[in-house]
Amino acid sequence: MIARVSLEIALRKEFDYSIPPALLGQVEIGTRVQAPFGARKIFGTVTALAEESAHANLKPILRVVGAQTLVTPKILKLARWIGEYYCCAPEIALKSVLPEVVRKKEEGWKKQLFVRALPSHEEFPTLPKRQQEVWNIIEERRELPLAELLELAETTAATIRKLEDRGLLEITSEISERDPYAREHILPTQPLSLNEAQAKALEQVKSAMGRSELASTFLLHGVTGSGKTEIYLQAIAHALEQGKGAIVLVPEISLTPQTVERFKARFSSGKLQTLVAVLHSHLSAGERHDEWHKIRQGRARIVIGARSAIFAPADPVGLIIVDEEHEQTYKQEEAPRYHARDVAIMRGQMENAVVLLGSATPSLESYHNAKKGKYALLELPERVDNQKMPRVRVVDMRQAATKEKGNLIFSPQLKEAIHQRIEKQEQTILFLNRRGWATALQCEKCGYVATCPNCSISMTYHRMEQKLACHICGEVQRVPMVCPNEKCGNPAIRFSGTGTQRVEETLAKLFPQARVRRMDSDTMKRKDDYRKTLGDFRAGRIDILVGTQMIAKGLHFPNVTLVGIIHADSALHQPDFRAGERTFQLLTQVSGRAGRGDVEGEVFVQAFSPFHPAIQYARRHDYAGFYEQEIEFREQLKYPPASRVALLTLKGRNEDKVKFSADFLKRELEKNLGEFKDLIFSGPAPAPLLKAETFYRHQIMLRTRAMSKLSLTLAKIIPFPQLPEDVTLTIDIDPVNLA
Ligand code: ADP
Ligand code: ZN
Repeated sequence: MIARVSLEIALRKEFDYSIPPALLGQVEIGTRVQAPFGARKIFGTVTALAEESAHANLKPILRVVGAQTLVTPKILKLARWIGEYYCCAPEIALKSVLPEVVRKKEEGWKKQLFVRALPSHEEFPTLPKRQQEVWNIIEERRELPLAELLELAETTAATIRKLEDRGLLEITSEISERDPYAREHILPTQPLSLNEAQAKALEQVKSAMGRSELASTFLLHGVTGSGKTEIYLQAIAHALEQGKGAIVLVPEISLTPQTVERFKARFSSGKLQTLVAVLHSHLSAGERHDEWHKIRQGRARIVIGARSAIFAPADPVGLIIVDEEHEQTYKQEEAPRYHARDVAIMRGQMENAVVLLGSATPSLESYHNAKKGKYALLELPERVDNQKMPRVRVVDMRQAATKEKGNLIFSPQLKEAIHQRIEKQEQTILFLNRRGWATALQCEKCGYVATCPNCSISMTYHRMEQKLACHICGEVQRVPMVCPNEKCGNPAIRFSGTGTQRVEETLAKLFPQARVRRMDSDTMKRKDDYRKTLGDFRAGRIDILVGTQMIAKGLHFPNVTLVGIIHADSALHQPDFRAGERTFQLLTQVSGRAGRGDVEGEVFVQAFSPFHPAIQYARRHDYAGFYEQEIEFREQLKYPPASRVALLTLKGRNEDKVKFSADFLKRELEKNLGEFKDLIFSGPAPAPLLKAETFYRHQIMLRTRAMSKLSLTLAKIIPFPQLPEDVTLTIDIDPVNLA
């Protein structure tokens, strides 16, 4: 027998190996193996088995990794599609479908010593008092870890050995599963009785799950708090009843203990009881190993996780849910540059699973597909219990600023509203789309701005640490005492813009009695920080929570009646055709944090361009209106969803070489892409972020509706051996980040 192996070094080729007698029967399609390659031993995945090979003198496979095949044939097929569509080498696509810890097998199951009571056949002996006390514990528990017993009984291993000698118990080494949520107290929940809109939506999903021959995709468009998660839970229950599993994707940022708990709680007991496995980047390697294998062994039939959980080896899968489907974090920003939502849809089609996309602010792409009838549209237009949507007020900061002069953080309206909440002991969330104390260090005299030497963006001032930091590459510098411009030297160099730190400090001055807490990636460094802060907020130990994106999503606090958005339009002027869409989404999501309890919520949106459609439609909670005007713009300019984009970026340290290569690439592409009648060719042009981490970047953008075909064509004509060695080309299909 011959095994064809895709090795983990990007060669776009597969190699044949012989299967040595010792490994016969252990090598299947999808088996992870280690094989010789030159002098090295390389990991790889078996992609096919054959009787014979066209090559002579095959080397044998060295060893098999793992007891079960790790890449199932279904996942292998999915990986092949990713390689083709996202225009990357199959080895790279294959690499991303297994977690690192599973691929390398550095971690195994954790073994631990257990004490187990043995059935006794003889008359029970009379034990010394101390031994009897220890025995009572063992008898009650039947089995427990030795370490736990020693602690409980305050005894020594010697005492336990004595009981072992009497034949009362045995000590064995067993697998002890790591459970990342072991410390949570999870109370089981029952399905809620659904309101009319929910029931109708669930019915449609369930009936699609009954038609096994036909895969279908749903878009669940429900305002924040409309009960989407309850629909997910009941649809999952239906999948379990049919003997199938489910995968739930959520953005990394909303993988809070709170979210995970809702899923665990529902399936922790009852007749549908099953393990819920969780996959995300904050798990330890050991925890990830255990969670993944629980899925592979079929014990955990529900998987909840971030982007890469779409590759979880659950089988069979009846339902794939993508919550907050519009989120950018579903797109991987390194090869393979896949979009987990789109992979989910493809996997659903391949495995006959129903795919359920959910969002309060669907991406233009998904809503467009729903309008065209490609997806079925399910709508939940109202909040559960008919709670009102919060009242949103847009504050024109141009007016506020001229009155107050200088850099204003809080408009008088927002200040007053915060004041009222403190009086009434209600809570406030203040949202800012930036970290740090101020955006930039700027000299008002000469206009000098401190920029990162490696990236073409301004450095961010962090006041506590008295440093300037680049949020792209992490470069850190000391704050200059005077303007570094030699001709200037102004000692009054100032900080412009607004950061979370500055908001926090200003609050302390304005409302000395209020308890303020900041939540951004600077203050949330440790694993537990996030959980702790949210716990304190929930318990009412914080009056005002200030934060960045971290607090925009999925959180549910009944006592929050005010949300302030400080610089609502800061994302509006990015050179990106999705700038309006992102602003609309962000405002809607953040507003959704207000008024989740009995009191109606209020939202203040502070903006310098208050009449921009993205802001006005968000104010009116009018998604459909926003969609209509936005789709018109996309169609006119042939941006997605009116077309698809491939973004080709050339990177190098020498800008002339990069430019030269980009021109060369342009000519080559023009020669080869004649058959694409609807092709729109833009560039080459400097990337919006011209320089990042010391690399210059130039781009070419291609737009066409026939993206699958374009990907295949690009894979054929690229790579160009003519490109200089120190210039690299990356291809991003359906990019979400154009910078
Ligand atoms: P979404 O996911 O759309 O933001 P959730 O599913 O989180 O909404 O629902 C918001 C709140 O309403 C939750 O506390 C949830 O338990 C509750 N809820 C959802 N559906 C119902 C229902 N049918 N009856 C009563 N409460 C519900
Ligand atoms: Zn930098």
